[in-house]
Amino acid sequence: MSLKTSFILVLIVVMAVLLTHSCEPKTVQDNPSAIVEADIVTHLEELSRDEYMGRMPFGPGDKLTVDYLVRQCKSLGLQPGNGTSYTQSVPMIEITSTSEQDIRVTTQNGERNYNFGEDYVIHCQKTLDRVEIEDAELVFCGFGITSPGEWEDYSGFDMNNKIAIVMVNDPGFGGEDSTFFKGDIMTYFGRWTYKYEEADRQGARGLLIIHETNSAGYPWFVVGSSWSGPQLGLEKESVQNGADIKGWIHLNMAKDLFESTGHDLSQLMRDARKPGFRPVPLNATLSTSLTNEYKRDQSDNVIAIWEGNQNADEYILYSAHWDHIGVGIPVNGDSIYNGALDNASGTAVALSIAKNLSRQASPPERSVLFTFVTAEEQGLLGSEYFALNPTVPVNQIVANINIDGCNPNGPVKDFQIVGIGHSEMDRIVAEELAVQDRYVLPDQEPEKGYFFRSDHFNFAKVGIPALFGEGGYDHIEKGIEYGKRKKEEYTAQHYHAPSDEFDEENWDMRGVVQDAQLYYNIGWRLANNDEWPQWYAESEFKRTRTVSD
Ligand SMILES: [Zn+2]
Repeated sequence: MSLKTSFILVLIVVMAVLLTHSCEPKTVQDNPSAIVEADIVTHLEELSRDEYMGRMPFGPGDKLTVDYLVRQCKSLGLQPGNGTSYTQSVPMIEITSTSEQDIRVTTQNGERNYNFGEDYVIHCQKTLDRVEIEDAELVFCGFGITSPGEWEDYSGFDMNNKIAIVMVNDPGFGGEDSTFFKGDIMTYFGRWTYKYEEADRQGARGLLIIHETNSAGYPWFVVGSSWSGPQLGLEKESVQNGADIKGWIHLNMAKDLFESTGHDLSQLMRDARKPGFRPVPLNATLSTSLTNEYKRDQSDNVIAIWEGNQNADEYILYSAHWDHIGVGIPVNGDSIYNGALDNASGTAVALSIAKNLSRQASPPERSVLFTFVTAEEQGLLGSEYFALNPTVPVNQIVANINIDGCNPNGPVKDFQIVGIGHSEMDRIVAEELAVQDRYVLPDQEPEKGYFFRSDHFNFAKVGIPALFGEGGYDHIEKGIEYGKRKKEEYTAQHYHAPSDEFDEENWDMRGVVQDAQLYYNIGWRLANNDEWPQWYAESEFKRTRTVSD
């Protein structure tokens, strides 16, 4: 070994020592933008304790959770997000409809009778004690979609005192053209929630959706079980003015009904996929009656602000639902559905982001708004209420980052964007992922419409570009198959089960920290520039932003 090589060796050793040293985890003071695992674990552990009783709205865990969140926001130095209050009360109403007289359809050729549960399910979402429908006209309205200038299934037809029968999903589903209503990707127009809302806007007396397993994505029994018990909703305008009955009919009932009125259902369904479709009156009437029982209750959103120092009236909105499904049927002797992942984890991550903001030497330019919303599991109700009754102007909200569930399986190279292709948030995520040496995993099941199933959806509906995603499968040490297996394991064993518990032994928190850091970086970036992420032209939410701007 020459002197020169030994000198080089020494140099390498010295450098290695220096490098190792500089790679040591920096302390919080050195690097205020690093998310700290312990910050997340503290809240996660607390909120998933049995004492919180599965954080059911109105249940014994409701006040406990809300108080805890308010206390945390205060102690972090966040300002109240609803005037002088940290809470926004969300009035809700629970309605149980009971069928009194089954559906009777009168045609020129006689009467047809159908049975509740087997042939159809209907309910009344209004504060009426009793609904009686006597010979209301039936009209086939295609997919029940109105997108002005583009698609008009009601095309100005007067729906007053008429019952619309519509198809599930949208005209793009099952077609060849991936640009026509996004092909098999479910658009908002394909969701039953949209169809109910549109029927209200059209002033229809009722709406019945024809169930088809393939287009709906789930079998008839799911419809039956979800729509036969009590239904919780917001105490909002449609409770007074909406359609009297809403529900689903079995495909067999639809076939029978159309045939008895002399219509070819399959032909009409094909026609409804073509532009220029117009409503088809079936020359038949429907009669039925039901009774309602209802009770009112309220829960709270927790809202807090970290104020910006330059454009304080522009906001980056973080959301995480605090609620879960409470106490239910025991599994292996455990009846408390703790919801550790869903969504104590997202709530804890949002709090850790707030804590990180508080560690910065100075606040960001724009303000950061935190909403811990209630009743997500009951139909995204807390976020819907906030979107309809925002505590800051909606068009001042730059973007939403929604956190619902985290990745407890350790660090991964990918991040799945649910509902990819809606807005420039995609690009921003991709850029911030690159900083972490990670890549974008597109929506793995776009036909299932998961983009419409968490709180960001309500913010998107009022025009706020929204990000919803989750750590992917590509485990840094154990590979893709491992990541996939762990995800499947969760869905099969723990999703909405009492065993969704915080498992300190088996949860690898590095993945949670990784995503928390990503959410933080995106928020910090948007809070420190004048960027307004835009909706892509193809997105069905683009219109709402244009209106609110
Ligand atoms: Zn959730």
